[in-house]
Amino acid sequence: MAHADFSPVTPAMLSKLTKRGGQTRISLQTALGVSGPTIARATAELTDIGILAANTGAASGKGRPAETIDLSATGLCSIGISIRADRSSARLLGARGNAVECIELGITQETPYQEAVATIGDSVLRLASIAAERFTVLAAVGISFFGSADYEQGKITTPSTFKAWHHKPIARDVELFTGLPTAIENYSIALVNAVNWFDAEEPADFFLVVADYGIGGVSSIAGRHFLGPERRPSGFGHIGSRPTGTRLCHCGGYDCQMTTASVRAIRDRAEEYGLVAPGRGDLGALIRDLDTMEDGRARALLDDAGDLLAGNALTLCRGMGLPLCVLGGVLFDHSASARQAANRRFADPGHNCRARFLAEVFSGRDTDDLAATSVAYHHLSQTRKAYLLQHQQELGSLLLRRAR
Ligand SMILES: [Zn+2]
Repeated sequence: MAHADFSPVTPAMLSKLTKRGGQTRISLQTALGVSGPTIARATAELTDIGILAANTGAASGKGRPAETIDLSATGLCSIGISIRADRSSARLLGARGNAVECIELGITQETPYQEAVATIGDSVLRLASIAAERFTVLAAVGISFFGSADYEQGKITTPSTFKAWHHKPIARDVELFTGLPTAIENYSIALVNAVNWFDAEEPADFFLVVADYGIGGVSSIAGRHFLGPERRPSGFGHIGSRPTGTRLCHCGGYDCQMTTASVRAIRDRAEEYGLVAPGRGDLGALIRDLDTMEDGRARALLDDAGDLLAGNALTLCRGMGLPLCVLGGVLFDHSASARQAANRRFADPGHNCRARFLAEVFSGRDTDDLAATSVAYHHLSQTRKAYLLQHQQELGSLLLRRAR
């Protein structure tokens, strides 16, 4: 593979430019706490391969106009694969996480593993050939997976709804198929990394709740995801588990948050009440429908879930001394009732923790896209390498090989 090797300061500098836009070398030096020559070397190396571009602004008053450095719109890109229980897609994304091209994958948990690898691989190669015409460097292929995954081993682990894929080294297999650097991470962890890479407010310490088909919860300490010894983002979903109760969970207990406050649980309850047609897979639209229904039971389902999740998250934040709780996932993205219930919880006196919603943090950009692209940027940060797309001959032969 044709690689660009990066300086140690490069990942932090790329993230800083993503969050803040154009910066002078002096301001980058100050923000990153490194020397002038270090910034000069790193910016020169990235300008050479087209990732950064320098802009000389108009002179204001006396002295030289300050030259600012920014991400080039035609430099860095990533390919983001999002695999969820309800939908899956492959996207080509610009440096700031803006989608350029999208392919729906149509993969479900019934798709045989080898077939899924081939579907993903073919889509990645198609997007890579588009990328080679529009960008100069590919950060990596990032897979955001809606279940447990191990970044270090590039593997799917347990638990997840994709039972036939457990323990499969999907990142390695897609990398072998495409010849492009590939990494996988759990969706909730990827979202924490996305906040750390993209959020202009730059919170370093926070807890992130993902209230989706399942429930995830991951904290960020000093700008990095932190899971504790168990390394399971799903742990938060099983808070409240009891030895007896009415709703049995796969964790072995009853009435934990997964069985009472997840979108799957809300859907099941709404079906029992006859509020929605059975078996709906469009979870975002389902939550929006419930949110606007006249029936008080619909509202109560969303209120109760938002209240319960926010209450447990606040307890956790207070215990860990975290000043911020970010709430996201289908429930909070699509239900004003759930957001209001969470805000009421956080308005309780006696603490300094505030709530923010993921949708406002990402201001209009797609949450799944930012999760997937942050897996690619995490990989770039760990390996300090990226793939040079100008080597189209190499990419061309890969595409040709696949076409045979
Ligand atoms: Zn449980």
